[in-house]
Amino acid sequence: MRPCPAWTDLRKRRLAILLTRLLPASLAALASLALLVLPGCVGDRAQNTDWATPTATGASNGAGSNNGIQAALDTYAKALTDKNRDSFASVLDAGNPAFTAAELQRFDNLAAVPFGQFSLRLVSQSQTAPDTVAAKVDTSYTLRGSFSELPSPGRAAYFLVKRPDGWKLSGDASVQALGKKRYARFEDFGKVEVLSGQRSIVLYHAQAGVARQVQEMTDAAMPRLESVFPGARFPKVPVKIYENKDEIDQTFPGKWQEWTGGASLMLGEKAEQGGEIIIDAEVFSSTAGTSPGYNRKMIAHELTHIALFPMSGNRTPPFLVEGLADYVGGIEDTALLRERLRGGGAISPTLSDIYQPGSFSALLTTDAATLAYEEADSAVSLLETKYGNDKVMELLREFQRRQNDSQSQDALVNDVFSSVLGISWNDFEGEWRSYVLAG
Ligand SMILES: [Zn+2]
Repeated sequence: MRPCPAWTDLRKRRLAILLTRLLPASLAALASLALLVLPGCVGDRAQNTDWATPTATGASNGAGSNNGIQAALDTYAKALTDKNRDSFASVLDAGNPAFTAAELQRFDNLAAVPFGQFSLRLVSQSQTAPDTVAAKVDTSYTLRGSFSELPSPGRAAYFLVKRPDGWKLSGDASVQALGKKRYARFEDFGKVEVLSGQRSIVLYHAQAGVARQVQEMTDAAMPRLESVFPGARFPKVPVKIYENKDEIDQTFPGKWQEWTGGASLMLGEKAEQGGEIIIDAEVFSSTAGTSPGYNRKMIAHELTHIALFPMSGNRTPPFLVEGLADYVGGIEDTALLRERLRGGGAISPTLSDIYQPGSFSALLTTDAATLAYEEADSAVSLLETKYGNDKVMELLREFQRRQNDSQSQDALVNDVFSSVLGISWNDFEGEWRSYVLAG
C-alpha cells in the first residue's frame, strides 16, 4: 500500500538526460544535480491531530453544535458545485470583510470548473473565543466526466463564528490549527479556465496555447493507452497547467525540481480516485522549441502512470512501470545500452537492480538514468513482442496480487516470471541481453 499520494517524478530524469545533450556542460551539471532530490508525499497530514475535539466524540466543546458547523461547510461546498454565489456568500462572515472578499474571489475564480462533488468534512474543532471555533477540515473534489471517487483529502482549517442565522466561515485558521500557512491553491493564481477534451479536462489560467496543445496530446495518446490496457476505460484526466515553477513551488513546496516539464500525481489508492497531471507551462513551451516530440511523449508517459497506479503495487518491478510508460509514449533507441553490452563490461544498474522497489528513485547519475530507461524500454519491448500484451498484463496482475508476499524481491520476480511466462528470471535476462545486442 502506498502511504500517501505520490509524485511520479521520473520524467524529470528523462528531461535532464535530454538537456545534458543540448546544454553546455555547466548547465547540464545543474540539471543532474536536480535529480538528487528524491520525491516525497504531497498530501501532508496535520502534525497535531489531538489538538482539538474530534467530531466523532460528539463533544460540543462548549462551542455549540458540530452539526451546525458541518452544515455551514456543506453549504459552502454545495454552492461551489451548484455555482450558487448567493448561497456561497450566505456562509461567509460579514464581520471579516477581507476574508469574505478573498473567498468570493475564490468562488469567481472557480466559476468555470465543472465540479462533480466538493467535500469539506469537519475533522475536529477547538473553541478559540466565545462563539468562535477553529475547525480542521478534510477537503477534496471530483470533476464531472473525470474520476468518480473523491481523492485522498487535503487538510484545511477555518475559523467559524456563530451568528444569529448560523455558523459562518470567518478566516483561515491554518497557522493556528495546522501549525503552518496554507499552501497556494490552483485558483489562487487567478480565474481558472477550462478546456475539456475527449480525454482530459485541462485547467489553466492564461496559457491557452499550452492548454490546447496538452489537450490535443492527451486525446492523441489515449487510443494507444487503451490498446495497451485493453478493457480499461479511462475517464477524463485532469491536467493543471501552472504558469511556471514558482507557482508550482507555492502549491507543492519542496516537491518539484528544476527542469521538470510535467509529472503525474496519484490522488488515492483506488482506480476510481485516479490521478492528475501537473504541467509547467514555461518548461513545456521551451521544450517544445528545443525538442520537438518530447512533450507528446511526456504526456503519454504521465497518462500511462495514472493508468498504472491502480494496477501496480509496491512489489511491481519499476522497470515494468517505466518501460510501459515509454512503450505507450514511444520507445526510443537503446544505443547506450547496446554499446555497453557490446563492450562486455559491467552495467549499472543491471536489469535486476531495477526490479527492486524504489530503484528508479535511486538513480543518481545521468548515465545510470539513461541506462535504466533503456533497459526498461527494451525489456518491455521484448515482453510485448515475444510474449504478448496479455502476458504483460498478467505480470502486472500477479505482482499486484502478491505484493504482500514475504519472500525476497529476487524470489518473487523469479516466481512470477516462471509462473506467467514459463521462464526463469535468469533465462529471461539472457534473452533480453541477446535481444538488445541484436537490435
Ligand atoms: Zn515515469
